[in-house]
Amino acid sequence: MNFIADMHTHTIASTHAYSTVTENAKAAAERGLKYIAMTDHGVKMEDAPHYWHFCNLRVIPDFLYGVRVIKGVEANICDYDGTLDTDEIERFVEWMVASMHYPCIMSGSEDDHTRAYLKVMENLKVAVLGHTDSEWYPYDVDTVSKECVRRNVAMELNVSRFRSEASIKRLKKLILPACVRNGCSIMVNSDAHFHDKIGAFEKARQLLCEINFPSELVLNADIQRFEAFLKARGIKTNGETAAE
Ligand SMILES: [Zn+2]
Ligand SMILES: [Zn+2]
Repeated sequence: MNFIADMHTHTIASTHAYSTVTENAKAAAERGLKYIAMTDHGVKMEDAPHYWHFCNLRVIPDFLYGVRVIKGVEANICDYDGTLDTDEIERFVEWMVASMHYPCIMSGSEDDHTRAYLKVMENLKVAVLGHTDSEWYPYDVDTVSKECVRRNVAMELNVSRFRSEASIKRLKKLILPACVRNGCSIMVNSDAHFHDKIGAFEKARQLLCEINFPSELVLNADIQRFEAFLKARGIKTNGETAAE
């Protein structure tokens, strides 16, 4: 399984991350990736960038080191009605990962989190549900993964979460089997907060092999599948951008 994109990464614009977009793109090129998404935290997170960060993303070239840099945000899901903290910045970004983070949203019931995810997907900019493996935010995996299919949204396999045994267990036993059952595509992302983690997907590759996860459901492991996903969301692919 060869990955061609890392679509959830952070830069020094989020102060608990420590690499620049240039360093991240260089690391992506060295790993052989074709795409990277820059997804610093939405404004409700305590150390998120000022909203001007998002307004001015257009100054960053489409390509750095030959890697297409997609400008995005990791939006905060702020309540169980799926309210995001991105109203003022959505028009400036191409890509949104939507995630639950403390203290932007408190831990509620399984029904609360399920409803929040379903409502979040009504926002057409949301491409990925970020790190849904948290014990703090359990949800009905079948209901949510079916809605992902209906809305063409990817479930994330977030490699940074491999530091938690509980997350690995939830992924293996609960989330990934539901994705297989319901035909829900996943996206493997690093959530890198330092450039050495960009595209470092070995642990994810091992886990997916271990459970015989169907490769056709891994969106960023095939260039055609991945670019079709981008096109369906109105995002320019490498060829289209280069041809301009
Ligand atoms: Zn996150
Ligand atoms: Zn993140």
